[in-house]
This record gives sequence, structure tokens and C-alpha cells, in this order.
Amino acid sequence: MSTTNHGWEKTIATHYNEAVEWRRQLHRNPQPGWLEFYSTGFVAEKLAEWGYELLLGEHIIAADKRANVPDFQTLEAEYDRAIKSGIKEQFVAPARGGLTGVVGILRGALPGPVVGFRFDIDGTAAMESDDPSHRPAAEGFVSQNRGYAHMCGHDVHTAMGLLLARHFAENRQTLKGTVKFLFQPNQEELNGAEAMVEKKTVDDVEFLLSGHVGINAMQVGQIATNVVDFMALSRFEVTYRGRSSHAALRPEDGRNALLGACAAVTNLHAISRHSDGASRVNVGFMQAGTTWNLIPEEACLRMETRGVTNGIHAFMVEKAREVLEGAARMYGLELEVKRAATALSAQSSPELIELGTSVAGKLASTADVLDETAYNASEDVTVMMERVQSKGGKALFVLFGTPVGGGHHSATFDVDERVILNGAQFLAAMHEEVAQAGQAQVSRGVCLCRKESRNLPA
Ligand SMILES: [Zn+2]
Ligand SMILES: [Zn+2]
Repeated sequence: MSTTNHGWEKTIATHYNEAVEWRRQLHRNPQPGWLEFYSTGFVAEKLAEWGYELLLGEHIIAADKRANVPDFQTLEAEYDRAIKSGIKEQFVAPARGGLTGVVGILRGALPGPVVGFRFDIDGTAAMESDDPSHRPAAEGFVSQNRGYAHMCGHDVHTAMGLLLARHFAENRQTLKGTVKFLFQPNQEELNGAEAMVEKKTVDDVEFLLSGHVGINAMQVGQIATNVVDFMALSRFEVTYRGRSSHAALRPEDGRNALLGACAAVTNLHAISRHSDGASRVNVGFMQAGTTWNLIPEEACLRMETRGVTNGIHAFMVEKAREVLEGAARMYGLELEVKRAATALSAQSSPELIELGTSVAGKLASTADVLDETAYNASEDVTVMMERVQSKGGKALFVLFGTPVGGGHHSATFDVDERVILNGAQFLAAMHEEVAQAGQAQVSRGVCLCRKESRNLPA
């Protein structure tokens, strides 16, 4: 079946059935952002068993960069749930309180670059279908944590990451350089990457590889290596604070936060479009006031802006701030704006797109390498990509082909599990290439030193 010379393609494939089991175990135990105690413990135990150095909890998550952290009771209940479902406490205790995620590091026997692999681990707050026509229900791996579900395939990403991690562990004697696995929490709220980047988790990464299943690559064996149009995004929690007073007796004493919020909402949606490309603005939540006869003292909004380039997005954020502040001034209100999520409009490094396209084309598992593919949504891995690239490293984001049942975030989302193997093989092949390139860079360095030393006085 194989058309390439990678000896390891077959050995990765021998662990495929086990990876499917991991995926199904993760699928049965979904937890959304900052509650991923099950996946955190599951991944950490396996990586430790395979000889990876582990970083957990406060060492990889900046607590103050998190937004929308669930309340204490929910955090504790989901933590307990993970323990009762078989997670060993030693692997999840550092994540207690919502510091979820795992970084696993393996140093190879041979010199080479630090290559990072990022996989997201969170589920969605959604009810999975238990209709027998839905395969996870029919085959006994539907969500057991009702109300939460893996409806975006991050269980599949996690299993793919583990399959790859095991491959490196089994080949440590011939592994060039260091592999660093970033199992990232809370992708769905676009908040986990920033919390990890803040802890410098990717500062030493020279090549960063990541991707998503499905999303405009809908057949098994397809792969999109040139993904464009990531939308930069910001989410804000906005609070207006005024003063309450009796609506009939002393309305003139009040400062009406509800009116300020309403003025902000209509004018946010009236921000001009930008001639350079696509932009978005949405207020998705508003809450204000308490009862009939009180001037509302407080109003809250949840809003987001997007732009297809960082420049367009900066324009949207600036205009949104002007509107928010203007509405506050009109009604004599205090304004508080908290950032709740960030994604950038990153681009994969051209050299890695080229390399990825040629690597994918040579793999037996690849049926089709797609041309330029638009993402048209937001991804917080862009924050990691930007950090790596700004330090001189290179980054690549790809789409791994699979049909997706009812679609991402639908109650009947499902994948063709062969994508786990295809993805792991592609990433292993990419690693082989960039480790080689890293070697070349190292030898160039040596040459330069020699040249310099020739110029030294004898
Ligand atoms: Zn999603
Ligand atoms: Zn996703």
C-alpha cells in the first residue's frame, strides 16, 4: 500500500486501533474550556508513561489571561468527575481550579531543532445526539457527560497528538532535536492559546505545526496545506455602570446604563465596513436593569469584532472603542471593557506551506492536496504562530480531510477516524523534513564559525 520509503509509516499504523480507542474514551468524557480535567489527566499519564517531561498547571497557563472561567462549584464538580472516571489525581491535580492543558517534552538522542505540535483538547457546551443513526451512539461512545460534547473533533486532535507522541517516544534513539507537544485548553472560546503563550511555552519553538479536522477539507485523504483568511478577532465583556433612581419620583437623578448599552449596540452594528477586506461585528448578549420602576444602574454586553487582516481588525477595534466610550459619555456612565478572547490573522510560513505540499503529496495516505483554502473563521493557534514567527521560527496550519457528519458544532458531528492516522503520518513526515532542515542550519552555523576562525590571526 505504501508508496513512500518512510519505515515508520507502518509502525504508526500498528497503533491506529489503540488511537481510535483513545479518541472514543475522550469522546465519552467531554468537558469544555477550563474544565478539561479528563483530557488533561488522560494525556499527561500517557506522555509520562512514554518518557516525556511534563509541564502542567501554573507552569503553562497564565491564570489572569483566562476569560469566562466557570464558577468554583462547576470547576470542582468537573474535577471530581474526571477522577471518578478513572483519571489519576497525580496527573490532574496541578490543573485543579481551571489550569488545564499539558505540555510534553521529549529530547531526542540526536541534535536538531525544537519542533512544537499544538492540539486542542476542549469539548463544547452542547448536547450530543443519542439517536441510533449517530455512530457514537450506535457504537457506544456517545458523550457520558450530558450537556457537554466533542462536537468539533478536538478529541480526534488529541488522539492524533498522542499517536504522534508515541511514535517519537518509540524512536527516541534516532529522533533529531526536541519535540514539544502543546495540548491546549479552551480553543472554542479562543482563550487558551494566549494563556499558554503568556507562559512562554512556545518561545523556544523553531517550527510549530498544527491543524484542524474537516473545515473545507471534507474527504478522507484530502489535506489543505495552504490555509488562508484566518479572521483576527477580539471578544470583549463590556459593563456600563450608572446610577439608579426612582423612575417616577426622581428620574433626573438616574444615570441610565441600559440606554447607554442600547446606544452602543446600534452604533456598533453601524461601524463602516472596510474597503480592504472582510470585517465583522456582533453583539451577542445584553443584560441590563432589575425591575419596572428603577433607572437601570448596570448593563452588560458581550461583543466581538473580526477582520480578515490584522489591520482591518485594528480598525474595527478602534471604532468599537470610540462607540463604547461615546455611549458612556452621552449617558454619564462608567465604562469597563475586559478582553475575553484574541485571535490573529496569521499566515503559515511560505517555506512550510511549500514543504507541506510536497510532503503530503508523497504520503500513501494522501489522495488530494488542496489548493489555497479559505478558513473564514478565527483560530487562536494564530497567537502561537505569531509568537513563533516573531522570534524567527516558522509555523504551519493545515486542514486534515474528513467528512464531518452533521457539521462542526452540530449534535451529530462525527468524523471518519482514519483521519487520526493520516494526520499523525503527515506530521511525522513533516517532522522528519524540518529536523533535517534544522540540521542543515546547524551545519551552516558550523561553517560560518570555521570561516571566521580562518580570519583570526594565527
Ligand atoms: Zn469548534
Ligand atoms: Zn475546533
